[in-house]
Amino acid sequence: AKETGKARAVTYSPSDQGPPEHDISLEAAMFNAVREGEFQLYYQPIVDARSRTIEGFETLMRWKHPTLGMVPPVRFIPIAETNGLINLLGAWALKAACMQIRQFEEVAGRELYISVNISPRQFRSDKFLTVLDDALALSGTKGRQLVLEITEGTLMVDPVHAEAVLGKMAERGARIAIDDFGTGYSSLAYLKRFPISVLKIDRAFVKDLPQAAKDGAICSAVLDIARHLDLLVVAEGVETEEQLAWLDNLGCHYVQGYLTGKPMPAHVAMAALKENLYT
Ligand code: C2E
Ligand code: CA
Ligand code: CA
Ligand code: CA
Repeated sequence: AKETGKARAVTYSPSDQGPPEHDISLEAAMFNAVREGEFQLYYQPIVDARSRTIEGFETLMRWKHPTLGMVPPVRFIPIAETNGLINLLGAWALKAACMQIRQFEEVAGRELYISVNISPRQFRSDKFLTVLDDALALSGTKGRQLVLEITEGTLMVDPVHAEAVLGKMAERGARIAIDDFGTGYSSLAYLKRFPISVLKIDRAFVKDLPQAAKDGAICSAVLDIARHLDLLVVAEGVETEEQLAWLDNLGCHYVQGYLTGKPMPAHVAMAALKENLYT
């Protein structure tokens, strides 16, 4: 934190923003948390904007610390990215998600997909494709049911390497989603270069819809590009009926947000799936 001149105690608070420079103890706690199994996966429904049927789930990592409570991913993912623990956590998440989707499908009685966040470091790791193959083989999940969410930044660090890895992912049938679309690099050239299937419009462009004219223009431009390039679009952070109606009218395929379901533990997700069958 910057010096402001005011005396201020430096205490840990899970809601603190900014770089976690005083989080050495949090880092130590993370290694312990891995051993103790304190990490969990939550699942947030991705629904068809028109029918509201659940088509898939995004997996979101949660850390339930015995005394600190819920530590949000914005605090622990950057630390894991720095110390390399993300490779371990990410591999675990990928395997667990691929296993879980089979159980979800059993409840739903139809094929679903699972969307998993892949961090830049994980994507660059030379073990990544092995982890991917293991997750698919162990679970029996088909490659086409897997969507891997990466950011524009992940692609642009080393485009030559990225192209090779994405090619290998495509061979397995896994689809690539660009997460937080529009918030990173402004170049659209990579949409041409890489085999991308899904764009996820960042919540920053959705949260003030339909009133905010500029946000509306951006969303509608993204939907136009997606239509011409034959890409699917997921709008993130949809919280109101008005936002959903607006996006649906402009041809947005999928929405994900508190309106249609918060991130939830697997057993709650299964209850939601059961309900969905009869509505
Ligand atoms: P993200 O991938 O962009 O995930 C979407 C975030 O938006 C999630 O925050 C989700 O809970 C939140 N969200 C969804 N719908 C709404 C809504 O309607 N309103 C609001 N206000 N928020 C909504 P979460 O779970 O705290 O995750 C934050 C970020 O942490 C993720 O952003 C992702 O970058 C990272 N993350 C989470 N889990 C993983 C993981 O397993 N691996 C990696 N590498 N990163 C992860
Ligand atoms: Ca994501
Ligand atoms: Ca996102
Ligand atoms: Ca985001």
